[in-house]
Amino acid sequence: MTAKNIGLVLFALAALGAAGYMTMGYLNKKEVTEDFATISYLCIADKCGAAFQKTAPELLALQRSSPDGAVPCPTCGSMKTIQSVPCPKCAKAMPTVGHAQTPPKCPHCGADTGVRKPPAP
Ligand SMILES: [Zn+2]
Ligand SMILES: [Zn+2]
Repeated sequence: MTAKNIGLVLFALAALGAAGYMTMGYLNKKEVTEDFATISYLCIADKCGAAFQKTAPELLALQRSSPDGAVPCPTCGSMKTIQSVPCPKCAKAMPTVGHAQTPPKCPHCGADTGVRKPPAP
């Protein structure tokens, strides 16, 4: 009888430990996801071409301060910036096409990005 009770207590402790471990794992995962919430931009002003990143909170602050939501280049201060995505092969910033779509080909190394071209009209 007593041995059975000890077994139950051990089982309960193990279950609690597993639940705690899973909660920790969930929290860590959430933190990593937030770290990746950055949006890449590319400056298309003459003689600049700087690539930079903005985090979601920074973009929200920008949208509040400027009605058109333009993102200024941190290098030259130009508003001529466009959203970009990193190339899966050379990791250079590729300007997005259309509505923030990944281009089908990297303009730097010509790698196929695996994105299907939009159907011809
Ligand atoms: Zn610039
Ligand atoms: Zn590339």
